[in-house]
Amino acid sequence: MERKKPFVIDEKIYKRYDERKQLFCRTDVDKEYKNYKREIYEKMSDTIKEKKSGYSRIDYALDSAAWTLYETYKLIPRENIRGLGYYDSYKSLPKYRVEDKEKMSKIIKRVASFFGASLTGITNFDERWVYSYDCNGDKIEIPEKYKYAIVMAVEMDRVGLGSSPSVTSAAATALGYSKITFLVMHLGEFIKSLGYHTIDMLNDTALSIPLAIQAGLGQLGRNGLLITRDYGPRVRICKIFTDLPLEIDHPIDFGVTEYCKNCKLCAEACEVDAISFDDEPSFEIKCSENNPGVKKWYINAEKCYDYWYENGVDCATCITVCPFSKIKQNKPGDFWKI
Ligand code: SF4
Ligand code: SF4
Repeated sequence: MERKKPFVIDEKIYKRYDERKQLFCRTDVDKEYKNYKREIYEKMSDTIKEKKSGYSRIDYALDSAAWTLYETYKLIPRENIRGLGYYDSYKSLPKYRVEDKEKMSKIIKRVASFFGASLTGITNFDERWVYSYDCNGDKIEIPEKYKYAIVMAVEMDRVGLGSSPSVTSAAATALGYSKITFLVMHLGEFIKSLGYHTIDMLNDTALSIPLAIQAGLGQLGRNGLLITRDYGPRVRICKIFTDLPLEIDHPIDFGVTEYCKNCKLCAEACEVDAISFDDEPSFEIKCSENNPGVKKWYINAEKCYDYWYENGVDCATCITVCPFSKIKQNKPGDFWKI
């Protein structure tokens, strides 16, 4: 039986995404961009003086601390990350022989869960989702030996996210990033310890959401995010390309597209109308960051990102209000009452 494809793609238009179009990247390297070198936290000192609930010195300290592992990882050259896989005694071992791909996949999922994954899926490597160029303008080419992508999602804290758009919500997002960093570092080392190769990724190198959809973790929502069955969009995603032989998973359909056609809660909740109210997904892009050629509800990422500056911290309201997230929005400051 032929499986339903999870994406509608116009192959004449679609091109691999150039990471230099992405707004975080443009902030770092694009001198023409209006937010070049601007810090999201630039108003922090003034915001703290305003004494708004959810924007205190304590809240900002929590957010800053939650980023720690993610920010540290960015500073370490990948070849300097060392687990047992690099010790001499391990180097002398032959490559682990995979005789049963299904069993190996089960082991990988168990190990991913051990290191903190809430969900793990496996898909074939698909070049369409690999960035064409990275943020520094270097062309990205993945060697042919990488046949599989392991995609993992980590649940983010319900109470923290429920306080969006305040700083405790941003702290829950930050902690999600540090958790996926921990996960990808450790699972990558596990696979290398068996004698195989990995490319360990957070948001870099390839688009996480389409890979996650192909690996059966969920579907694409109106809010532009992966909607998982158990946690909705309340997850952060990381992935590993590897040559370890694995059994693949398949995309799932639990009715998200149909649900989103009528729901529109995220579009109503967004302060800056960055989310489409259109009844149907379409090929119409909404800003220069969008990559045309895929039928979906495109997000106006420029409006969204500008709001983060105005808010003094990143926002997650379109995650919080989504019924699939299964959380209740709380008042800024409620984080500390739990
Ligand atoms: S993160 Fe906030 S500003 Fe951005 S699209 Fe979602 S609700 Fe709108
Ligand atoms: S809030 Fe509603 S419309 Fe938006 S992604 Fe969730 S289910 Fe879809």
